[in-house]
Amino acid sequence: MSEPKSFHMTQEEFRRHGYAMVDWIANYYSRVESFPVLSQVEPGQIRTWLPAQPPTRGETFEDMLRDVEKFILPGITHWQSPNFFAYFPTAVSGPSILGELLSSGLGVQGMLWATSPACTELETHILDWMVSMLGLPDKFLSSNTGGGVIQDTASSASLCALLAARERATNFASNQQGCDGKLVAYTSSQAHSSIEKAIQVAGIGKQNLRLIDVDDRFAMKPDVLARLMAQDREKGLVPFFVCGTVGTTSSNAIDPIRAIAEICRQQNLWLHVDAAMSGTAALCPEFRHIHDGLELVDSYCFNPHKWMFTNFDCDCFYVADRKALIQALSVLPEYLRNKATESGAVIDYRDWQVPLGRRFRALKLWFVIRHYGVEGLQHHVRQHMVLAQEFVQWVKSDSRFELAAPAPLNLICFRQKAGDDANQTIMDRLNRSGDLYLTHTRLQDKLTLRVCIGQANTERRHVEKAWKRIQEEADRLGR
Ligand code: PLP
Repeated sequence: MSEPKSFHMTQEEFRRHGYAMVDWIANYYSRVESFPVLSQVEPGQIRTWLPAQPPTRGETFEDMLRDVEKFILPGITHWQSPNFFAYFPTAVSGPSILGELLSSGLGVQGMLWATSPACTELETHILDWMVSMLGLPDKFLSSNTGGGVIQDTASSASLCALLAARERATNFASNQQGCDGKLVAYTSSQAHSSIEKAIQVAGIGKQNLRLIDVDDRFAMKPDVLARLMAQDREKGLVPFFVCGTVGTTSSNAIDPIRAIAEICRQQNLWLHVDAAMSGTAALCPEFRHIHDGLELVDSYCFNPHKWMFTNFDCDCFYVADRKALIQALSVLPEYLRNKATESGAVIDYRDWQVPLGRRFRALKLWFVIRHYGVEGLQHHVRQHMVLAQEFVQWVKSDSRFELAAPAPLNLICFRQKAGDDANQTIMDRLNRSGDLYLTHTRLQDKLTLRVCIGQANTERRHVEKAWKRIQEEADRLGR
């Protein structure tokens, strides 16, 4: 009898193509500096190169790889280029890529402990490791009342925090009855837009989000927070949630978490802290002051997928009281019932997040931590800090430029003194040149350039070249 027809890739083919793929990625890294950092294609251009219809007949892997070179690479903005200084980084590393590959290869879906015990238990274990690696409060340990979970993004973590807070504030009635429009949330005017989105999604209503004024360092003013809460109570509203930020996206401002937490404690509000990029700095004990007061908060998140050399997506989310989170998010249909869950002896992470299904993300984090060790991670974070502080000095010593905000960590906000048009021109020309990529924000209503140093392979020479190019563009402007 002949073999049944199969279109699957054979194991031998997979092995061969897999080696070729890994070779391709390794080669990509060795030539990444030769590409313009910001993709130079026009809108719609990539699609004009792609066939209008999908292939009826399967194609060869060689053809696919060839088309990656031809059609995909030109449309890539090279986040892994050492000349990438835009936004916040999404820094990748070899062990992380391999961890991601293994996760794909195992192909497990870890919604329940029972659907792959290792997926759950490794995650719990690594998140406990991270508590000691970052010097986070013990209450976030799984052996305590709280615990950690990997979410896809900080946006999801903040949404989950908000949902748990909403349920706690309504004594778990809002899941049943919906919201009555009385709950009020607070965050600073500099908080990430994901907080506003979470407010929309959680049914709180944007009119019930107060954006608190910031001080001259762009950090939340706790006295204004307290005043607005009191005003809201007088109107019969119910303050229930505050989000503080450690390292705002615009300027890396660090909200005074302790002062905010004391207000929240007195008034029984849920305090969530979003440290998406900057939390990684706490790997080094000398930067842990950014977390001052964290022992008083209800939840916290940071993204290894930004500055801890771990592929997108990977956010570590911690709660002080896991019961509140689980009670807010748990739904148990018959088809998911199983002995392990009912024994109460296991964690089912589906109850700690919005989706049911979940990837085995802990693998890449495990690989990263084991490859670098704590000292390796600290080494690279410290290097970025040193480079950023040098950059600050360069800005200060060129009279055409000014710092636009303090630079407590690895983000430098600065501007050419001539005004918005000059800064826009400098940025556009630099980004068009492909030599580096940087982005902007507005601070005190002035266009401000941002340089964030956190890409895994960025060395001193790249930062020096970036500053030289910025100065050249300022020279060109003749100002
Ligand atoms: N919070 C802060 C402070 C950020 O800077 C960012 C992104 O840069 C986010 C949240 C959103 O991150 P994510 O893409 O993981 O949702």
